[in-house]
Amino acid sequence: MPSRPRVLRPGGARSRVEARREYDATRQARHSWRRFYSTARWHKIRVRQLRDFPLCAFCEREERVTPATVCDHVERHGGDEERFFAGPFQSLCKRCHDSTKQADEAAAKRRGPTPSLPFRG
Ligand SMILES: [Zn+2]
Repeated sequence: MPSRPRVLRPGGARSRVEARREYDATRQARHSWRRFYSTARWHKIRVRQLRDFPLCAFCEREERVTPATVCDHVERHGGDEERFFAGPFQSLCKRCHDSTKQADEAAAKRRGPTPSLPFRG
């Protein structure tokens, strides 16, 4: 990662502590959606999903019968509360969930940190 050019702030230089605090706040905001998982609302959704669809959807496609333990978001919610609770959801076993998540993250890495621009050939 390229380092940011040094910026001179006459009289208003931030201390290391301040910079650190700011960094922590940003990081927390970025992952704040994780708290949705501990809400009663999410608990209800998860229980209902796994009750209605008790088998892993991915394993079923491969004609394997595996009990699902994970209520997975079919579409990326991107930390958006509305989308997080709206779904759609699918039931997965932990193994499928973890492997698709890894594949997903690898794909995101290949795409790069910025949304890809429309391809012009
Ligand atoms: Zn599975």
